[in-house]
Amino acid sequence: MSTKLSRRDFLKMLAVLGVGIKLAPRSNTIAQDEKIIVVGAGASGLIAAYWLMDAGYDVTVLEARDRIGGRTWSDYSLAPYPIEFGAEFIHGDEAITWDVLEEVGEESLDNASGDTRIYYDASLQSPIELAFTLGMLQDPEELFGNAVFEWLNENDGDISVSGLLDLMAADDPSRFTPEFRKFIINLITNQFAGSADEIGIAGLARAYETETDGDGDFRVENGYSSIWDAVADGLDIRLNTPIAAIDWSGDSNVVTATDGTTFEADRVVITLPLGVLKSGNVAFTPQLPSEKQIAISSLGAGAVDKIILKFDEAFWEEQVAFFVTTQNSRFWWRPGFERGENEVPILTAFFSGEAAAFFETLSEDDAIQAALNDLKIMFGRDDLGDYLVEAHFIAWGTDPYSLMGYSYVPVGGLGQREILAEPIDDVLFFAGEATHTEKSSTVHGAIETGIRVAEEIMNL
Ligand SMILES: Cc1cc2nc3c(=O)[nH]c(=O)nc-3n(C[C@H](O)[C@H](O)[C@H](O)COP(=O)(O)OP(=O)(O)OC[C@H]3O[C@@H](n4cnc5c(N)ncnc54)[C@H](O)[C@@H]3O)c2cc1C
Repeated sequence: MSTKLSRRDFLKMLAVLGVGIKLAPRSNTIAQDEKIIVVGAGASGLIAAYWLMDAGYDVTVLEARDRIGGRTWSDYSLAPYPIEFGAEFIHGDEAITWDVLEEVGEESLDNASGDTRIYYDASLQSPIELAFTLGMLQDPEELFGNAVFEWLNENDGDISVSGLLDLMAADDPSRFTPEFRKFIINLITNQFAGSADEIGIAGLARAYETETDGDGDFRVENGYSSIWDAVADGLDIRLNTPIAAIDWSGDSNVVTATDGTTFEADRVVITLPLGVLKSGNVAFTPQLPSEKQIAISSLGAGAVDKIILKFDEAFWEEQVAFFVTTQNSRFWWRPGFERGENEVPILTAFFSGEAAAFFETLSEDDAIQAALNDLKIMFGRDDLGDYLVEAHFIAWGTDPYSLMGYSYVPVGGLGQREILAEPIDDVLFFAGEATHTEKSSTVHGAIETGIRVAEEIMNL
């Protein structure tokens, strides 16, 4: 057992001592003579709004959906505990999300645990068995990671994930078989969204090198949505207000909703997902500068989707919580594993890139059947349909207010996140996971960009 005092333990200790860590500088709130509009009530928008309101600004948040939270969305109907339809874990015991949890009085569950089984070579195997199957006593992902750094050390420039896998297969075809390739693609592209032909290994290496948020993956006890409900308390949030246009040409900036309602502001914080920015569904007058447009078009907005299947009885081994598969559904887990006896037999499939693109071509019913078929193959059971009681397909890639799961850096795209994050003329400010140079694709990254943007405005 580790004796290291985790950030969580540290925060608990501080709470016992009555020392609160404040998310926002509450001490010297002075009314500011400025109106700020924040577009989007996801993690980044809510945190930016919270900070700015706390600093005395007149803040209004405009949100397209009938709920807050954006790509975090907890369902409370499937089980007596939340099932996450969007983001599920706090990645790392040092992520800033712990400060937010502390601030709003929420808790997390213990580190997500449980064994893993990998469907490979027509059977479910443990990671060790897989290493034997592959004839390499090394974690396949680690092996690929080593190949990434080796390639970057020996070559200038960038290459795609599939390009590197081609080279590995050419070098040692008996080891790096087509099924090994599929396995790595499923694993890597799930973390970084996008397709294996597009994701650049330079961006991948940067993400590997800058993982600085500690260890472990934790679920929020009452669901991610519970955090945002608390953060939103006291904020002026207009739901059901999709924005169609932002005019920043004059002295006053005008944000127009699709129903024609206008909102004036001194400054506008834009937290629109990269997928929405790419779609052109929000018009800018004047147009955004060309370098910003290049950043928007050249960064990748990868689809990341979930299929959630509720059964009336469990058919998996008691201690196994995660299933990685070479089937399209890619990665499955038990969202209630840490709930002990309260666990309801539910499995979540999590997939991105080409797999998400495949599922998104299907109707919801067909997508659910396709995922169920993958489980039948993995478990060697034809009768699983008999146990299915409820199913959901959450397609973030086609959701009009997301149009993506999370962002990635395509081949040659390093440096574009920095440009996406830059404010324009002290009027337009950009936050959201895609603007984080190191912690994109995460809730804690989005939170940090919300704080960054609030500080940019407060420091003007
Ligand atoms: C399936 C899935 C699983 C994930 N799992 C994890 C995980 O386990 N851990 C983790 O840390 N991260 C995870 N992530 C990533 C995480 O969810 C995101 O990085 C984060 O939530 C993004 O926050 P954001 O504020 O940048 O964007 P969003 O949450 O998308 O917020 C943007 C807001 O803008 C709104 N909007 C869009 N268009 C308009 C418009 N025209 N007008 C007004 N409002 C508009 C949207 O409705 C949304 O509320 C996951 C993502 C997905 C999709």
